[in-house]
Amino acid sequence: PTLLDNSLELAINSMQLDMGDEITLPRIEKHYQTNLPSLTCSAVEIQQVILNLLRNAFQAFTHADYGAPSNPTIAIHAETDGDWFLLRFVDNGPGMPEDVRRHIFEPFYTTKDVGQGTGLGLSVSYFIITEHHGGSIHVDSTPGEGTEFSIRLPVG
Ligand code: ADP
Ligand code: MG
Repeated sequence: PTLLDNSLELAINSMQLDMGDEITLPRIEKHYQTNLPSLTCSAVEIQQVILNLLRNAFQAFTHADYGAPSNPTIAIHAETDGDWFLLRFVDNGPGMPEDVRRHIFEPFYTTKDVGQGTGLGLSVSYFIITEHHGGSIHVDSTPGEGTEFSIRLPVG
């Protein structure tokens, strides 16, 4: 939870640096299971992944075609399941059509304007997560409804 909250604060700060104070931040819901085990992976790497996913979610709400979202929310779920640590980021943003979704883990793939995105966030995140034994990252997205990224990492 400390790592998550630190990353969350970093993500909010970096968004404010990018966009100025006039941005309206989405509501953040934290669903952290109590007594979460600690992770043995590199905190810096995991923080990088969390930051990438949160920044994408924040940016999704500011997308020009999206209009004014009603009740923009990002829910963060952290829980364990046996030997696994599960992290999920759920936003009710614009979602992605299938022809975007199938490319998002490719290096340099971006739908953002020049200067807004490098297209590296998700490919780097994919690399970091899958270099851990059994680690995986999945996306589930529905246009008009939102996007969920889920990460699985080994505990201990
Ligand atoms: P970048 O953010 O620099 O574009 P990423 O690798 O982080 O690169 O993301 C690739 C693309 O995936 C984005 O350009 C965007 O189209 C899509 N994407 C990622 N996260 C979301 C999200 N939460 N909602 C909608 N689209 C998303
Ligand atoms: Mg990104």
